[in-house]
Amino acid sequence: MDRDSQVSPADPARERIRAAGLRATAARIAVLRELIAGASPLSHAEVAEKLASTGFDRVTVYRNLMELADAGIANRVDFGDHTWRFEVTIAGSKEHVSDHPHFVCVDCGEVSCLPGVSVSVTDPKETKSSGVGQITEVLLKGHCGNCT
Ligand SMILES: [Zn+2]
Ligand SMILES: [Zn+2]
Repeated sequence: MDRDSQVSPADPARERIRAAGLRATAARIAVLRELIAGASPLSHAEVAEKLASTGFDRVTVYRNLMELADAGIANRVDFGDHTWRFEVTIAGSKEHVSDHPHFVCVDCGEVSCLPGVSVSVTDPKETKSSGVGQITEVLLKGHCGNCT
């Protein structure tokens, strides 16, 4: 049986991987599907847990997350807790830049995406002494709805 024929050609995970010039392996597709389905950036541990029942081990998941990040399909962000989290980048963008700010709860550590929220930052080029090169991530901290 031809395994490819079972997969819809409109599978967005498969299309993103192929568009980036990578081979659409089962592991890559499974990992990227979790990132696409995730409502917020997912850590390696979270993705590995979601895929535990599929038989992909933690090392395989980690390697594929890194490959997706290197290919610009996933954005790798560290919110200050020394844990890499991964989320899908905007299709067609080669920049490793999030298109939305994130919110992290200082009490429980829950991370949320804030799509549609814009934060205005003065262009770093205009503040010459700031030492800021390129801002790639906007992170807001506070108390989430469960912790207030
Ligand atoms: Zn919280
Ligand atoms: Zn996000």
